[in-house]
Amino acid sequence: MAGFREECGVVGVMGDPEAAKLIYLGLYALQHRGQEAAGIVTINETGALQGHKAFGLVGDGFTADILSRLEGRSGIGHNRYSTTGASRMVENIQPFSFKTSLGSVAIAHNGNLTNADQIRVELESQGSIFQSTSDTEVFMHLLAKSTQAQLLDRIVEVMGKVRGAYSLVLLTKDRLFALRDPYGFRPLVLGRRGDCVVVASETCALELIDAEFEREIAPGEIVEIFSDGFIRSYYPVQSPRKAFCSFEPIYFARPDSQIFGEEIYSLRKRMGECLARESHVDADVVIAVPDSGVPMALGYAAEVKLPMELGLVRNHYVGRTFIEPSQSIRDFGVKLKLNPVGSTLRGKRVIVVDDSLVRGTTSVKILRMLRKAGAKEIHLRLGSPPITHSCYFGVDTPERGQLLAAQQTVEQIRDFIGADTLAFLSPEGLRQALGASNAGNYCYGCFSGDYPEATGQKISPQPTDRLGGPGLKAGF
Ligand code: SF4
Repeated sequence: MAGFREECGVVGVMGDPEAAKLIYLGLYALQHRGQEAAGIVTINETGALQGHKAFGLVGDGFTADILSRLEGRSGIGHNRYSTTGASRMVENIQPFSFKTSLGSVAIAHNGNLTNADQIRVELESQGSIFQSTSDTEVFMHLLAKSTQAQLLDRIVEVMGKVRGAYSLVLLTKDRLFALRDPYGFRPLVLGRRGDCVVVASETCALELIDAEFEREIAPGEIVEIFSDGFIRSYYPVQSPRKAFCSFEPIYFARPDSQIFGEEIYSLRKRMGECLARESHVDADVVIAVPDSGVPMALGYAAEVKLPMELGLVRNHYVGRTFIEPSQSIRDFGVKLKLNPVGSTLRGKRVIVVDDSLVRGTTSVKILRMLRKAGAKEIHLRLGSPPITHSCYFGVDTPERGQLLAAQQTVEQIRDFIGADTLAFLSPEGLRQALGASNAGNYCYGCFSGDYPEATGQKISPQPTDRLGGPGLKAGF
C-alpha cells in the first residue's frame, strides 16, 4: 500500500521490576505502528517520573544503560507516527509527563482528537501555555485544570469534553489507567504476565513478552489498574455506536494480532477471497505487494485455485532517509523497498494483490517494474474499496485532492497506473469479509465520507457516482 502511514502504538505495564524492559519489547512488537520516534516513562517508588525519548526506531533509541536507569515497577511507552503536531519537534514525542495538584502523571495516546483545536484556543485564552503542537497535550491540560479531587473523576470529566479517537494509557505513582474513546476507533488490549498487567495497542505486543491476552478494553471504558494487579472497570461515557477503524484490519494491524474480536490474518485472507469472488480474471499466477497484501493474495489464490508465488521481494532494511542519486534513475525510491522476481513474472499473466490505493504513485512504479521484469499482463486487485475521503480519527491520509479515487474513475485510474485490468473490493465485499455480525461496528469514513461523528473540520461534498455508481456509499 502506498500513501497511508502507520499511526501510533502504546504500551503500559504495571507491577514488574523490569517494567521498562517489557515496555521496550512491547514497543518493538508495535514498531509497524510508528517509526518516527519512541519514548518510555516509568515511575519509581517516590513518585518521580523518569523517561527517555528518541527519534527513530525503538531499537536505535534505547540502550541497556538507558533502560536500567528507567526504574520502577510501572511505566508506559509510545511509538510515534505523527498524525498531528509538527513532525520533528522533540516536544511532540510521547509519553508526555506533567505535574498536577494530584501528583505526577504521564500520558501516551493513539488517535486524534477532533475538537482539540477548539479546546486549545479556549484554554490558551484562559492562560494555558502549550509546550507541543500535539492534540494529546489538550487532554493533559484538561486533566491538570480539573478541580475534581480524584484523578479518575478528572479522566471522566475530560472524556466528556474531548471528541474523536483515543486509545490512551495514563500513569501515576500507584495506578495505570487505560481508556478508549466511546467509538473504539483504535484498538487497545489487556493482558497478564503473572501478577503484572500489560496494556497494548495490539496483542502482538503481549505475545512477545509472554503476557496472556485477557480481553480488549471496550469502547468508552476506563480500566484502573492497581499495583497488585487488581483492576477495576468504569463505563462513564455512553457509546452511541462502535466505529472500529476498518483500516486497522486492512492495513495497520500486524497479521498475527487479534483486535476488534478478530484474528487479523484470517480476516485479511477473507478480504482476498471476497475480492476473488467479485473480480477474478483468467491469469497464470497471483502475487502480493508485501507485506499487508500477502494474506489477501493467499486468500485470493486459494479461492480461484491459482498458484501464489513470490513476485516482489521486500527489503526490510531500508532506513528512513537516503540520498537520491539522480533524477535519471527512475523509480529509485520504490526499488529500495521492492524488487521483482523475474522467474515468477516472465511471460506470465499476473494478478497483483495490494491492500489499498491512495495517491497511486507507488502503484505506477510497481507496475512499471513488473512489466519491465517480463509480466505479460498485469491485473491489479485491491483488498479495499476506493479511498475517497480523508481520515480525522488518527490516520494520516492525504487531503481529498491527493486521493486518486476521489478524482478519477476506476477506468481512469487503471489507465494512469498502467494495469491491464483494475478492481477494488466492493463495500459489500468488505462488509462480508468483516462478517455480518461485526460489519456494523466499523467506521468506513474514508471510503464513503460518512463519518461516525462530526470531524470538527470541513467535510468535502460527497463524491459523484464516478467510482462505481451510487452503490459506493450506499454499500456502507
Ligand atoms: S475514516 Fe477511514 S482511516 Fe479513519 S477511522 Fe474511519 S475507517 Fe479508519
